[in-house]
Amino acid sequence: MSRLKGKVAIVTGSGNGIGAATAKHLAKDGAKVAVVDLTEESASNTVQAIREAGGEAIAVGCDVSKAEQVEHAVERVVSEYGRLDILVNNAGVTRDRLIFKMSEEDWDTVLDVHLKGSFLFCKAAQKYMVEQRSGRIVNTSSVGAVGKRGQANYASAKAGLQALTRTLAIELGQFGINVNAVAPGFIATDMTRRTAERQGLDFEEVRKVASQKIPLRRVGEPEDVANVVSFLVSEDANYITGETIYVSGGER
Ligand code: NAP
Repeated sequence: MSRLKGKVAIVTGSGNGIGAATAKHLAKDGAKVAVVDLTEESASNTVQAIREAGGEAIAVGCDVSKAEQVEHAVERVVSEYGRLDILVNNAGVTRDRLIFKMSEEDWDTVLDVHLKGSFLFCKAAQKYMVEQRSGRIVNTSSVGAVGKRGQANYASAKAGLQALTRTLAIELGQFGINVNAVAPGFIATDMTRRTAERQGLDFEEVRKVASQKIPLRRVGEPEDVANVVSFLVSEDANYITGETIYVSGGER
């Protein structure tokens, strides 16, 4: 398929998991993809996979929570590829603890990576998208946005991302820029595997138990989210903006 032929995309946190699946999908759709991860090295596996499949990609090392690094990353992509059409804010971390144990650092790290990181990338990217009078931004929220035990930091960041999405859709719509969010449920990635391991639980068992509570009776795979992002950044989604699409097998 080549529905994104000629488009340039940035996917943050795409060295692994949902971001990697999204970067590969957008490349398969024809986009040139900047694989942004903490270091160029951590982005390199995804870049290699895209190139081996015949796509075009570059590795960009960038901590999304650092304004200067974000500005450099976006400038580098535009100088390399000449434009910027798509931004997918996906990078994420967890620091789960009950409130009485949650440190200021736990709070800041999660809010900085998810919410501030998305704000910084949106700000840096919109400059080029406004000039072009076109662009697509997808932020990554979560079913956890409504609140989850041990995740005061994460839930606040993910709820904030829905507000950021709605607000930027209102501000940027007049410039032909659509801003939406995906809200995944339980997706099998390193993030969910590490969470299980931290609790001393067997991941396969956690997966099985979780599946029983999900209407579609299975946990999600990274490609389930990538499919929806691919739709949201395509012309098929031209008249959708400000929405948060749940990709959760029916879980809320
Ligand atoms: P993952 O496998 O842990 O991948 C997250 C990626 O983000 C990693 O490549 C990580 O790099 C990168 N990253 C972390 N901090 C970064 C930073 N400061 N700057 C740049 N990159 C950074 O997680 P995932 O499950 O794919 O999650 C992707 C997104 O989906 C996150 O926003 C997450 O909150 C959201 N989500 C996931 C689930 C789920 O069940 N998995 C559910 C709802 C929402 P390193 O590996 O090099 O540290």
